[in-house]
Amino acid sequence: VPLSRLAETAAAASLAGLEFASGIPGSVGGAVFMNAGAYGGEIGQLVTEVSLYRPGAGFCRRTREELDFAYRRSRLQESGEILLDAQFLLVPGEKAKIRAEMAELNKRRKDKQPLEFPSAGSVFKRPPGEYAARLIEKAGLKGARIGDAQVAEKHAGFIINRGQATAREVLALIDRVKEEVHQKLGVILETEVRVVGEDEEEDE
Ligand SMILES: Cc1cc2nc3c(=O)[nH]c(=O)nc-3n(C[C@H](O)[C@H](O)[C@H](O)COP(=O)(O)OP(=O)(O)OC[C@H]3O[C@@H](n4cnc5c(N)ncnc54)[C@H](O)[C@@H]3O)c2cc1C
Repeated sequence: VPLSRLAETAAAASLAGLEFASGIPGSVGGAVFMNAGAYGGEIGQLVTEVSLYRPGAGFCRRTREELDFAYRRSRLQESGEILLDAQFLLVPGEKAKIRAEMAELNKRRKDKQPLEFPSAGSVFKRPPGEYAARLIEKAGLKGARIGDAQVAEKHAGFIINRGQATAREVLALIDRVKEEVHQKLGVILETEVRVVGEDEEEDE
């Protein structure tokens, strides 16, 4: 189920709480796995209970507390469990207000994020008390480019594909950003994106 559809279904039923989620791409499963969040909201704050399949060990129910949610983290990232369904605690609200809030947040997203180019969203986690994009900009890396992979001019927390970027170019640019931010500002940036495939180990 796409997260945007869940948010839209909640709005149609006059249930508030998922407004922040309507513009986050991906599925409900991916959002719970990553504890996706935006504009002060996080999916983990709304989950009450989930059904999971544990490969080799069968089905089980887990409560929010058992899912160990933290910033862009959930227990699913270590356990390998597969989310089958999820329950959310939402509050009754006014449909028009909920829709207006969603429209406002989606407008902000469109104004600030380079959605006109392909990307994987925010590349780096927010370091404590800072914003990754601000540090990257401060390090002079806005617009930096390796091949067709580029630190977005519109939002330095995004790496966009200007045409034919390869995974290798994106990963090389991530490394360059990490290195220069560390050298110039003394901050170690951690990736929010997860690298899968042949370069996976380099990410650890
Ligand atoms: C333009 C853009 C903007 C974005 N903005 C935000 C934002 O504001 N906030 C934010 O938090 N993220 C944001 N993201 C990141 C992304 O949308 C989230 O990480 C999303 O939740 C991933 O969901 P997915 O379905 O695409 O998962 P995938 O990328 O397919 O998978 C992610 C991980 O979840 C696991 N997974 C997926 N489904 C299940 C399941 N049912 N059970 C167990 N594990 C599962 C996969 O195995 C994988 O390891 C953005 C991305 C883009 C491209």
